[in-house]
Amino acid sequence: MRIFLSREATSAQVSRVLKSARDLAGDPSLVTVLPDDGALVVDVAPCGHALDPGLFRSMPGVEAVEGEDLYRLASDAQGGQTRTVETGYGGVVFGADRFVVMAGPCAVENEADLLEIAIQVKRAGATVLRGGAFKPRTSPYCFQGLGEEGLRMLARVREKAGIAVVTEAMDPALVPMVSDVADIVQIGSRNMQNFPLLKAAGRQPKPVLLKRGMSATLEEWLAAAEYVMAEGNPNVILCERGIRTFSRHSRHTLDIGVIPALRERTSLPVVVDPSHATGVRTRVAPMAKAAIAAGAHGLLIEVHIDVARAASDGFQTITVEEFGRLMDDLRALGSVLGVSI
Ligand code: PEP
Ligand code: MN
Repeated sequence: MRIFLSREATSAQVSRVLKSARDLAGDPSLVTVLPDDGALVVDVAPCGHALDPGLFRSMPGVEAVEGEDLYRLASDAQGGQTRTVETGYGGVVFGADRFVVMAGPCAVENEADLLEIAIQVKRAGATVLRGGAFKPRTSPYCFQGLGEEGLRMLARVREKAGIAVVTEAMDPALVPMVSDVADIVQIGSRNMQNFPLLKAAGRQPKPVLLKRGMSATLEEWLAAAEYVMAEGNPNVILCERGIRTFSRHSRHTLDIGVIPALRERTSLPVVVDPSHATGVRTRVAPMAKAAIAAGAHGLLIEVHIDVARAASDGFQTITVEEFGRLMDDLRALGSVLGVSI
């Protein structure tokens, strides 16, 4: 990280910035002061923990703060401009002027249902079909997904319905197999810091939907994105899906505040999953609307043609009718916000 001091900074202000940098870096030798055209630059070498540039930005005497070394590729490299991430198939663009809605069942269950759901969510305005073939379940006794057979169903439904698909990879060794079918490879919350998996996702060509770990800080999340990007894949989409808090009224706590915080810190597109965040069907639509209002670039929503029959997460899955109404509401909100859907 580099902290640029202004020419007018007083020596007391310079000392304060230096003291904070040395204290926070934990090792004074990590902090170097360089002359910069009559002013000073404080260079903080990468250290074991992330330093928040925001802490320095607001300090008197500081003109600018650049580059967080723990995630220099994932940081705001484009001066406030969102980087666009595009799928090859379907031409879906994240981070441009069009809001992206990804929808479908929690898990791929059978081909007929998946096709019907794909047709219906596409008709309502979704441009990406979601559905897990490999499912990360808390209990080993719960439905684990159809695995390879589920991937084959996704591939056929993708062609028949003409819709891009996002599906999760859980095993680094199986990333190429998932990547062959998926237009977007999902890394689940529980695997956000599975570094071999992140590296494998970085070595395949499809965009990566990186879900936030349920106890991950913003810095840890961006550092996880950096793992993918450092392997050569710059196409990462961040997905906020709720975090663990003391709150018991919902499955997780949707951190709406992280959306503007991310938009200040990274140029990567940001989407929100209100289904896993709330775990309650009736709360999906309100949180989806909050997400678009807060500046998210898209949504990931669980939808089923028969929620009572869903093999996983039925209680938080919305019906296609509810999804249709939500899309109408999002379009109305989008027209106020200047976002097309
Ligand atoms: C999912 O989207 O299928 C999923 C399992 O979500 P998460 O990883 O956020 O729990
Ligand atoms: Mn689910």
